[in-house]
Amino acid sequence: LVKKNGKDNYRFYSLEAQNKMLEQIALINYLRHAIEYNEFQLLYQPIINMTDESLIGAEALIRWTHPKLGFISPSEFIPLAEETGLIYDIEKWVIKTALRQKKQWLESQYPDVKISINLSGKSLTCVEMIEEVKTLLRETGLKANSVQFEVTETSLMKDLETSIRNLKEIKAMGIEIALDDFGTGYSSLTYLKKLPIDVVKLDIDFIKNIASAEHDCLIVKHMIHLIHDLNLQVVAEGIEEAEQSAILKTMACDYGQGYFYSRPVRKEDFEKLMKKGAIQHSSVDEETSAST
Ligand code: C2E
Ligand code: MG
Ligand code: MG
Ligand code: MG
Repeated sequence: LVKKNGKDNYRFYSLEAQNKMLEQIALINYLRHAIEYNEFQLLYQPIINMTDESLIGAEALIRWTHPKLGFISPSEFIPLAEETGLIYDIEKWVIKTALRQKKQWLESQYPDVKISINLSGKSLTCVEMIEEVKTLLRETGLKANSVQFEVTETSLMKDLETSIRNLKEIKAMGIEIALDDFGTGYSSLTYLKKLPIDVVKLDIDFIKNIASAEHDCLIVKHMIHLIHDLNLQVVAEGIEEAEQSAILKTMACDYGQGYFYSRPVRKEDFEKLMKKGAIQHSSVDEETSAST
């Protein structure tokens, strides 16, 4: 009986694994056509200056809505895109869309807020991608320092040397580099001195409990000190409550991002925020109920 159970379990597991694989293959095929069918969209999440809560930038975040499958999270399809090499085209689309949007905002007299774009490790090791960025900067005529790229420690590790070389090239263009999801990798401190970065984004995992756990609070406080001592700036990610925001202010955290200020929003809603210039917390409730 035990053996039979074991066998059944095995077959059950393998069937599930098979289904999962078929599902992923289908997803990859859909992903292949997502650009040409216009299924991607960029949302913009405000980044605010913690000292006066003014709007200083936006992180561009990709959204994929498939006509049949509906919404698919970037956490699900970005890794697939990386494995299959589809990431190059997707990321080119993201950069192009974000930079052209930024240009349009400037032409429409919106304030000159920084646009922050996530760059995967794969793209960072791709020479063609770096050339593409140069071309787009030239084409849009944007100031390089109004553009920022976010890279993660884990994505850099695969080919550290090439990544650092290309990061330096990007930085030489005048584009800012942010180290994203800081603290989630395993040799973070080494990277702080190795990488040509300007900004560190503290991961939501650290911010989550600063109001309730003394340890987390201490870690964040000292990390901010350390980052400042290295002449870098800090963005706290995933601020969801007023209390977290208040604590981070006492720690002299430079910038903040999170549902407390605003969810990632559509272009039109971001334009409204830019007109106001600052975040009004009364609007947070509405946005929290709207799905992104
Ligand atoms: P990320 O770069 O760390 O982006 C921040 C994520 O945290 C976003 O999730 C954002 O919606 C979410 N977030 C922001 N504030 C809060 C908050 O207060 N609470 C909580 N719980 N979450 C918050 P999203 O948009 O689902 O993106 C997930 C990840 O997918 C991103 O993490 C990034 O690594 C990747 N991603 C998104 N767009 C792109 C893209 O265009 N290119 C690449 N390569 N990766 C992307
Ligand atoms: Mg990011
Ligand atoms: Mg992040
Ligand atoms: Mg993250």
